[in-house]
Amino acid sequence: MKKFSRRHFLQSAGTAVGTGVIAAALPAFGTSTENKKSKYEGKKLNIALVGLGRYAGFLAEGLQEAQYCRLAGIVTGTASKAVDWKKRYNIPDANIYNYQNFDGIKNNKDIDVVYIVLPNSMHKEYAIRTAQAGKHLIVEKPMAITASDCQEMIDACKKAGVQMANGYRLHYEPYNMEMKRLGQEKVFGQVRLVEASLGYKTSDPNEWRLKKSMAGGGPLMNVGIYCVQASRYITGEEPVSVTAQFGPNTDSALFKEVEASITWQLAFPSGAYANCSSSYNCGIDRLYASADNGSFELSPAISYGPFRGKTSKGELNFPVTNQQAVQCDEIAKVLLAGKQLPSHITGEEGLKDLRIMQAIYEAAQTGKKLSLR
Ligand code: NAD
Repeated sequence: MKKFSRRHFLQSAGTAVGTGVIAAALPAFGTSTENKKSKYEGKKLNIALVGLGRYAGFLAEGLQEAQYCRLAGIVTGTASKAVDWKKRYNIPDANIYNYQNFDGIKNNKDIDVVYIVLPNSMHKEYAIRTAQAGKHLIVEKPMAITASDCQEMIDACKKAGVQMANGYRLHYEPYNMEMKRLGQEKVFGQVRLVEASLGYKTSDPNEWRLKKSMAGGGPLMNVGIYCVQASRYITGEEPVSVTAQFGPNTDSALFKEVEASITWQLAFPSGAYANCSSSYNCGIDRLYASADNGSFELSPAISYGPFRGKTSKGELNFPVTNQQAVQCDEIAKVLLAGKQLPSHITGEEGLKDLRIMQAIYEAAQTGKKLSLR
């Protein structure tokens, strides 16, 4: 049987090609440029990645394929990574920062957007520093480790007049967007049940993901967030109540601070119901929706694919995309045009997910059904 590990989950999706350098000064959030033809059309948005770990590697490869943005800068605390990335991606010295001199990015006209790919607990600090530097930002999921941190980030962006996107790549992924369409347009009638599960086996006791102060929680914060998102985008509704249960601790040495697995149930105003789970001790990657007149499902559904899906009428067939390239391009197009980011990827959306995840934890801890109204 195939071993389902984190490495498996993080299968590469992109190949590297070179890009040219075109800087674009961006109009500020909330300006009157909305719907006007942008003077930045045809230009590329310059992105700096903060935190050069595993996912930043995927983003860097994706950015090599992007048409509307490019990898222009890096922020790292590791000198050897700065040397490697500079060489591999042709990054000028002036666009290489460390965590101490990061705030100097404010004066760098060659950087338009800062993309934060740090451990979860660090998102807030770097989002606020980015906003104060007057740059738009993309923040990886989960947006932060608490809802109040999300609110502070939103407030900082508003104050600085910059836009913030969440790195919600599945909002640009065709199979997932078909699940959303089938659910929200009631193609098979009213959705009654969503099942969403994502998990993989973890084994490194030193991973920051197993430290509550850095990760905010266990698999719920890391991968369960996708299941919360899918329940919301398939039903098109906000949950009104939640119940949750922790799974057994299968390795007390590994899971000292965070849960090994968790299962939760969300009730929606229409009567639709979601049953979801996330895990660090088993491999699963699946979305299923049952509606009055049929069903639709994906598996794999949430990882980097390639995805497979079917409805009660037949197979789903969509092109394989480079999820990181498409996500960055779609965000770049909006910013280059001086428009507002769509609400489903903004800070407010990340805040909604954090509120729900905090309620899931509280419901699991107390054993009570919590109202989300
Ligand atoms: P990682 O551990 O591989 O990388 C984290 C980076 O942060 C490293 O470069 C590390 O050196 C740096 N760092 C700086 N200060 C640190 C500190 N005090 N402790 C630990 N690392 C520190 O993690 P990752 O898998 O790249 O995840 C980074 C973020 O990206 C997380 O928020 C994660 O949830 C998110 N992510 C998103 C996806 C996705 O599909 N959208 C996939 C993986 C990860």
